[in-house]
Amino acid sequence: TTYRVQTSAIEGADGGGVLVSFEDITDMETAGRMRRDFVANVSHELRTPLTALLGFIETLKGAARDDAAARERFLDIMEREATRMNRLVADLLSLSRVEAAERVRPTELVDLTALVKASIAAIRPIAADQGITLEYLGPEDALEVRADADQITQVMHNLIENAIKYGSTGEKVTVAVSHEERDISLRGPAVRIDVIDRGDGIDPIHIPRLTERFYRIDDHRSRERGGTGLGLAIVKHIVNRHRGRFRIESERGVGSRFSISLPMG
Ligand code: ADP
Repeated sequence: TTYRVQTSAIEGADGGGVLVSFEDITDMETAGRMRRDFVANVSHELRTPLTALLGFIETLKGAARDDAAARERFLDIMEREATRMNRLVADLLSLSRVEAAERVRPTELVDLTALVKASIAAIRPIAADQGITLEYLGPEDALEVRADADQITQVMHNLIENAIKYGSTGEKVTVAVSHEERDISLRGPAVRIDVIDRGDGIDPIHIPRLTERFYRIDDHRSRERGGTGLGLAIVKHIVNRHRGRFRIESERGVGSRFSISLPMG
């Protein structure tokens, strides 16, 4: 615990004295440190692709100037690095937008059955390219909750894309929607969405940290697959804004299940 100690002189009829006050600033210190860490992380994440880009520009202007094949190859790498920067900036903007709106509850009525099915349809071709089938399990009828449709769509994309990226040893990813009469921790009716993969699973020591910004279990694998390390942090904030809950369960060698529950009404 950190205290800020302040002393001030006070005057009184009996000659006065000194007032000493203690203020607990532990939270403020933690917030300050987290902000500094975040800025350092962002700078590092942006600098890596930038350094690569500058290196390739240099090579293209010099050694590779007259080598058409090398030029082609380098341009491909440059495109990939620039795409990575673009994705990172887009995720940073999403995160800051979600954080800014976190106190404002969404008011729009959204049919989650239709939303989930639309997300599956949008990602299905990408999954198919990697030999993965996306399966929908759930009702056909509408299930409505007060939500921000764009944000919940983003949640679905982040979770399903992760299941494809990291759960790819399994051939099937299941997205299940269900109506819960009474969610125990939300104390009322809820719609629950599960994204289930049959991948390698996650070691339990990592699970509590997965929603931290830039936390990755396997740095190389995440980067190779175009990950920004912000996907689950964004999911957590969006679910918080909806006053819902987000759970991760996983078993090594079996797969993982990422679940969100959103309150109805
Ligand atoms: P990234 O952009 O790296 O995918 P995320 O915030 O979406 O960032 O995920 C953080 C980390 O959680 C990933 O780098 C990966 O190590 C792990 N992870 C996420 N989803 C899964 C999954 N379905 N199976 C195994 N590991 C996962």
